[in-house]
Amino acid sequence: MFFAFDNKKVVLIFLNKDTTFSTCSYNDLFLSYLQNIINFMTLIKQLFGCFIKVYYLALTYYKNNKIQNIMNKFQLPDLPYPYEALEPYFDQETMTIHHHRHHQAYVDNLNKALDTTTENVELEGLLAQVSQYGPAIRNNAGGHYNHSLFWEILSPAPKIVPTGRLAKEIEATFGSLDELKIKIKNAGLGQFGSGWSWLYVKYNGALDVVATPNQDNPLMDTQLMSRGVPILGVDVWEHAYYLKYQNKRADYLDAFWSILDWSVVEKKYEETIGKLI
Ligand code: MN
Repeated sequence: MFFAFDNKKVVLIFLNKDTTFSTCSYNDLFLSYLQNIINFMTLIKQLFGCFIKVYYLALTYYKNNKIQNIMNKFQLPDLPYPYEALEPYFDQETMTIHHHRHHQAYVDNLNKALDTTTENVELEGLLAQVSQYGPAIRNNAGGHYNHSLFWEILSPAPKIVPTGRLAKEIEATFGSLDELKIKIKNAGLGQFGSGWSWLYVKYNGALDVVATPNQDNPLMDTQLMSRGVPILGVDVWEHAYYLKYQNKRADYLDAFWSILDWSVVEKKYEETIGKLI
C-alpha cells in the first residue's frame, strides 16, 4: 500500500494480487465511512422501530386482556331450578324477567363499574368497604349479591320449617318462627319504596331482622346500626312481585314462605357462626 498526494487529497494506492493497482482517495474513504455510519444508524432505527412495535403490541394485548378479565369478572349465576318451578307462588314471567334481565343488568353494570383498583376485590370485600366506592358499585354489587342469595334460598321442594341450632336460636330471639315471619313481613312492608327485608347474623352471633333500602344489605359498611351477615333476604322491589301481585306486597311476602328452603338458611347460619367463632 502506498500513499500519494493528488491535489490536496490523500490517495491510497493498493497493489492487488494480480499485480494491478487500485486507488482509493481520502474522500472515498470518508464517504464510505459515512455510509457505514448511516447504514448502522438505519439498522438501529429499524431495530428500535421493531422493538417499539413489539412492545406496543404486547402492551395492547396485556391491556385488552386485563379489561376483558375485569369485564367478565362477575357473571350471572344459573337459577338452581327452572323459571316456572316456583309456581304458583312466584310466577314464571316474573322469575324470567327478574333473573334474566334485572339480575343480569346488576352483573353487567357492576362489571362496567369495576376498574383496576377493584379487580382483585371479591364481592363480599366490595360490600364490606362499599363506602369507599361510588353509587354504581354500591347499587350493582349489592344487587348482584342480594339476588344471588335470593335465588339460592328459594326452592320448589323446600324444607318448610327450620330445625336444629337455628330453630333454637330463632325461638330464643324472637319467641317463635311465626313471630320471626311477622317481623320479616313487617320489615318488608315498612320499607318505603324499593329494598330488602333480612334475617342476618350480627357480628356478636345474635340474630336480627332489618330492612334496607335499594340494593343495600347488612354486609355494607354504610350500615351504621345493623351490620352482619345475611342468611335470608326477601326482595321487596316492585319488579319482584308486581306482575302477579300488583300492589299487594303483603300477599307476595306471605307467598314467600311457601318456597323458602330453610335447609339453605340453616347452612348459611352454621357457616356464619363457624366463621365468627
Ligand atoms: Mn330484584
